[in-house]
Amino acid sequence: MRKVADIRAFSVGREGGSDYHRQSRDHWIVGRIANPMTRYPEYSDTRLAWGMDVLGSVVVEVEADDGTVGVGVSTGGALAGWIVEHHLKRFVVGQPVTNREQMWDQMFRATMFYGRKGLVMNAISAVDLALWDLLGQLRQEPVFALLGGAVRDELVFYATGPRPDLARNMGFIGGKLPLEFNSADGEDGFRANVARVETMRNAVGDDFWLMYDCYMSLDLPYATRLARALIPYGLKWLEEAFIPDDYWSYRELRQALGMQTLVTTGEHESTRYGFRLLLEMGCADIIQPDVTWCGGLTELTKIAALADAYNVLTIPHGSSVYSYHFLLSRPNSPFGEFLMMHPDATAVVPMFSPLLLDEPVPENGRLRLADTPGFGVRLNPDVPLERVR
Ligand SMILES: [Mg+2]
Repeated sequence: MRKVADIRAFSVGREGGSDYHRQSRDHWIVGRIANPMTRYPEYSDTRLAWGMDVLGSVVVEVEADDGTVGVGVSTGGALAGWIVEHHLKRFVVGQPVTNREQMWDQMFRATMFYGRKGLVMNAISAVDLALWDLLGQLRQEPVFALLGGAVRDELVFYATGPRPDLARNMGFIGGKLPLEFNSADGEDGFRANVARVETMRNAVGDDFWLMYDCYMSLDLPYATRLARALIPYGLKWLEEAFIPDDYWSYRELRQALGMQTLVTTGEHESTRYGFRLLLEMGCADIIQPDVTWCGGLTELTKIAALADAYNVLTIPHGSSVYSYHFLLSRPNSPFGEFLMMHPDATAVVPMFSPLLLDEPVPENGRLRLADTPGFGVRLNPDVPLERVR
């Protein structure tokens, strides 16, 4: 069995475009979106004001002893890269490429005193994804085959962005709007939140899913009232209404809504332990782990197995190919999220462009994955990467 000969971490500059948090001011994703900082007026205009873009991407390469290279990506830039180079490296280099379970367990346990979630888990996720990619390259198999094979011919997607009306015409099954206002914006903001869905419902017709992504910006009274006000317009789900640590509000919201509107969350949750709490407490109808943040694919399969036993769907947060291979192989992941990274959400563009080449995108809202080994993407040699030392 091939062994890991080297591991390298790189930060990506702004021109790499791979961290979707890092966009110019005219991009919808940094426009008016309710968030945990909206309560502070000086930070409420754009998520750039409080620094959503400070980290950038980290790229991890793992190289086998025959020179084959696997690539993984996460959010975290030079800081996550430092953790990889100075701490995680020792658990990976010299190990058989297949020993992913032991490598993950050692990375998790050795970082327990400062890790568990957040930046450290992003770093572990990037290493884990690079190891899956490497194993796929060595075996000349796509990652979905390593995961147990395809359970469907093609993937279908809903689109996240400000133009569900356009997403419908592009063949998506639904559209998820970013919520603009929260309790800091008073009654005018509340009415505007409701009116936006009403307008969009009139534009897309009755059969197209509409959802609201609240990006951790609400409190329980507001979320409950908003969901109830939107029942006439058939809102399918209310996403990430509260900060991730407030499991109790998620449970109460879900009980209050009685599945009339689904409650979803999890994009900022980590590991099987975090998701165990969400599931045991009955916090969500759908969990939405981000495979580049929650612990990588090795951990996502465990999170999803737990969710299966609770009859909760696992629909990963964005993350393009890193989610696609998972989606293709899981019976309880019947659709996926496509993040509209076009500045006006008027066209389908690859999420990790220009950093990654060969990244597939849905056509007519649908996607068939090729048999390309690993995740089927490669680093763009024209994008400068800075080695983390
Ligand atoms: Mg979200």
